[in-house]
Amino acid sequence: MEDRRLAYLSENQKSWLRKARDFADQISLDEIIAADQTNVFRRDLFEKACKEGLGALPFSEEYGGSSGDYVSFCLVNEEFGRRCIPIMSSLGVHVLSQEPIYKFGTAEQKQKYLPASASGKYLAAFGLTEPNAGSDTAAISTTAKLVGNEYILNGTKVFITSGAASDYFIVMAQLIDPEGSDKKAITAFVVDKDCPGFKIGQKFDMLGMRGYATCELVFEDCRVAKENLLGEHGWGRKVALGSLAKGRVTIAAQATGWAQGALEIACRHLSKEKKSLDSKLATIGELAILVESARVLTYQAARAVDRGQGDITLAAMAKIQATDAAMTVATEALSLTGIAGSQPQFLLERIFRDAKAGQIYEGTNQIQRMLIARDLLK
Ligand SMILES: Cc1cc2nc3c(=O)[nH]c(=O)nc-3n(C[C@H](O)[C@H](O)[C@H](O)COP(=O)(O)OP(=O)(O)OC[C@H]3O[C@@H](n4cnc5c(N)ncnc54)[C@H](O)[C@@H]3O)c2cc1C
Repeated sequence: MEDRRLAYLSENQKSWLRKARDFADQISLDEIIAADQTNVFRRDLFEKACKEGLGALPFSEEYGGSSGDYVSFCLVNEEFGRRCIPIMSSLGVHVLSQEPIYKFGTAEQKQKYLPASASGKYLAAFGLTEPNAGSDTAAISTTAKLVGNEYILNGTKVFITSGAASDYFIVMAQLIDPEGSDKKAITAFVVDKDCPGFKIGQKFDMLGMRGYATCELVFEDCRVAKENLLGEHGWGRKVALGSLAKGRVTIAAQATGWAQGALEIACRHLSKEKKSLDSKLATIGELAILVESARVLTYQAARAVDRGQGDITLAAMAKIQATDAAMTVATEALSLTGIAGSQPQFLLERIFRDAKAGQIYEGTNQIQRMLIARDLLK
């Protein structure tokens, strides 16, 4: 299939694309299927990707990053999505979790976490969701109380990607007012995996996005050093939204990859079919339009990030367009290929399950649509 992206990419972006494609193509279908079926995270692959400069691709060289742009990071995610590379989501969250340290971290925090994240020594996760706080993030009930030189955290986070494999976590908690009033303020912390009072809880057996060590994070009088506060008291929303605005562009790129992968699989399968192909041509054409539309909006959002004009509304539009496209293309591709296409080795049923998760995580598409409308009506 012709790669139309090449017409508008810089030489540097093309070289990231080639690197990502080579990396993805070296991973065998058996390995990809095994990560899904065993639900085991491939830390070795993550470390290998970091050695290739993918662990901190869009961050500056000062802290070990690769100084690539966000378009390049999206190209990597698209390539990984195309073949369901089992570290794709962890890499996305890893970058998402470094972002607030770059933006709001102290010099000591940057020195401690960023080079080790770039090299793959550390894997990072992002803890926002709770049993009673999914879409409604304001409802989080994990608390943090300043006692002497430590914050004491109590609560549980759920569905945390890479949770059981991570070395540190960006955690949002309601800070109990040090003045003693009832007022609480969402505040961000960096929590190390060996903090006293921290443990990994239930590991989740997911429908899609399997093999990502997705689990609960449990804080029971967890003692976090005062210097692990990220930003200032009450800055949690600002810290989270800044990361998620970029994170949603990353997901859009992953989903564009799923959609492209599903389309390619369907085309490969159908090109062997001579008899009934004509009746399916219009559907394939329609799916190709969906893939390209997702790509256009995704890279528009990524280029806006690179110009310093990234915004959460455009990111939401890209995330919706691409994850919905992935869901539709995977569903139609499964219909077009019949029962044969639903075998694991085709990856279509995998893309179908992952795309469903993509419509939900980092803000459901329904909620994102409401946010877009609110932004318009402002
Ligand atoms: C694969 C995967 C990985 C994840 N990884 C992470 C992670 O690393 N870190 C993290 O913090 N979280 C993570 N999550 C959690 C994810 O961010 C939440 O699932 C998501 O925010 C939605 O929350 P919820 O599932 O509780 O759904 P709910 O908020 O319970 O929503 C359920 C349904 O109700 C709708 N709804 C909710 N509120 C409203 C409203 N006010 N008006 C109209 N409709 C509404 C939603 O659109 C949805 O359709 C992950 C989830 C998945 C599936």
